[in-house]
Amino acid sequence: MSFLKRERSTLAEFMPGLDEALAKLPLMEMEKPGSAALSLFRKAGGPGLLIPARFGGRGATPLQVIHVQRALAARSPSLAIATTMHHFSVASVIGLAELDPERVAEILALIAGQNLLMASGFAEGRSGVSVLWSGMQVKRVPGGLVINGSKKPCSLAASMDLFTAGVLVPTESGMPHFAVIAIPANTAGLERKPFWGTSILGGAESDEVILREAYVPDEQAFYYSNENPALLELSFLWFEMVITVSYLGVASALVERVLNAAKGTATERTRLAIEIEGAATALEGIARAMMAGESGNDALAQVLFVRYAAQAAIGRITALAAELLGGMAFICSSDVGYLLAATTALAFHPPSRLSLTDALDAYLSGQRLNMS
Ligand SMILES: Cc1cc2nc3c(=O)[nH]c(=O)nc-3n(C[C@H](O)[C@H](O)[C@H](O)COP(=O)(O)OP(=O)(O)OC[C@H]3O[C@@H](n4cnc5c(N)ncnc54)[C@H](O)[C@@H]3O)c2cc1C
Repeated sequence: MSFLKRERSTLAEFMPGLDEALAKLPLMEMEKPGSAALSLFRKAGGPGLLIPARFGGRGATPLQVIHVQRALAARSPSLAIATTMHHFSVASVIGLAELDPERVAEILALIAGQNLLMASGFAEGRSGVSVLWSGMQVKRVPGGLVINGSKKPCSLAASMDLFTAGVLVPTESGMPHFAVIAIPANTAGLERKPFWGTSILGGAESDEVILREAYVPDEQAFYYSNENPALLELSFLWFEMVITVSYLGVASALVERVLNAAKGTATERTRLAIEIEGAATALEGIARAMMAGESGNDALAQVLFVRYAAQAAIGRITALAAELLGGMAFICSSDVGYLLAATTALAFHPPSRLSLTDALDAYLSGQRLNMS
């Protein structure tokens, strides 16, 4: 079948055998906390996927990354969401190279060499609050910071080896400085607590990470310039592209079931393909633009337009695919209902469409896109 062929062949190029191994595991097993999917990903060298070869990584291009991610998501939604958070953290660290090249090279070589997983804690479990805001208590002490507070949900809470988190560091001027800390998961004072209360995407381990009097040496904190948003914009560009293709991959799992069972008519099946391949190709356009060196505020606006268009397309695709699969497919296994529910969560990743409409409207009238 040609559906998902390119994506699976890219996955096989970077992580041979992983797709076949995942295909043998029942979907609902992979979606539970502690599933084998994450360890298979780790064993296949997945953590180094987008790390440049000079640091020992696989050096996948943005286009190759989104192919891999769509293929993985079509097998295990939770694996795709968890690894999106890892890739987002890695992309952010790569972006930090211009601030601290030596330290960044060290972290990337460690991740690629030892197949480490990196979690990303930005949200703090409050609705209506930007993920760039932080209520963590940060004290400056000689040689570093002491941090108290909690991040939730934080995917990979159980399996992470490294924890990154956004914090606001107090300054003498009174204007806090946004920083990202990158610390080992076994740092004294780092604890995990159950938080994820739904079985949907349970395999992504999106629990709470608590810091109690955790000491973070200066070399584990990276300070972003308040005046230059380019680094944050690049991180968000990666995040929006990879999270969107992940949910498109989940929707692809439903479409593939329709095609495999030859459900519906030729018109209905091609309608599914037109919608899903159209959205996938729009994302490929973003990846190709990144490869051509585009980033910054306009590129961020563009990926958000593509994400929200894909979000709407996914709703139409999954509803039609479930309808074509029929009542017996829905009744006899949890898979169809599960995949339908899992795709809904794209709407919950920041920035939500509703929270950004004013900013996008202002952008359309010529202002810079302001996501904070
Ligand atoms: C599967 C999954 C995994 C996740 N993993 C992580 C992780 O690893 N790390 C991490 O940091 N976070 C993670 N998150 C959390 C995520 O980053 C969000 O912070 C969280 O889902 C937001 O919750 P919310 O929708 O209640 O809040 P909000 O985004 O604040 O939205 C609440 C509601 O208000 C609306 N709204 C918000 N602002 C406005 C506005 N200005 N105008 C109009 N309407 C508005 C929204 O559209 C929504 O309907 C994860 C989320 C999911 C679903």
